[in-house]
Amino acid sequence: MKQYKYNLDKSTKKFVCPKCNKKTFVKLVEFKTGNYLSDEFGRCDRETNCRYHSTPKSEFKNFYEVKYIAPAEPSLHDYNLVIQSGRNYKQNNFIQFLNSVFTIDEVKNAVSKYLIGTSKHWNGATIFWQIDENEKVRHGKVMLFNFETGKRQKRANGKA
Ligand SMILES: [Zn+2]
Repeated sequence: MKQYKYNLDKSTKKFVCPKCNKKTFVKLVEFKTGNYLSDEFGRCDRETNCRYHSTPKSEFKNFYEVKYIAPAEPSLHDYNLVIQSGRNYKQNNFIQFLNSVFTIDEVKNAVSKYLIGTSKHWNGATIFWQIDENEKVRHGKVMLFNFETGKRQKRANGKA
């Protein structure tokens, strides 16, 4: 695991907690720039009542708690789609974000385990392939992320 490039804000400034909506939220600060990470990253001070604590690392873990069944006999057409999408990672915002937080091997493992691909749908978009219980590629979910924060982005035209 790479060393964290961020830490909890050491100032006394508190923000509204995304979970309990009280002004008890301490945000994460990036070392290099001193800027806050995305609004959802940080820790709530109400440790007994709320316990909200989110970092880019824990978000990654929660995000990927999906059931994945390895395709034993995938249809060739579907499988090719998945393989093709596994290229162009330099144009994939989400992979770029993962590279800034995790080691190359960790990112590679996640990519192959969770079938993360690059979508041509939008610039920098990521596709998550979903395999159903019959081991067929059911569909790919296309999402766009901010490559610096790992936060999901809306498209340039404002539509999700
Ligand atoms: Zn809270």
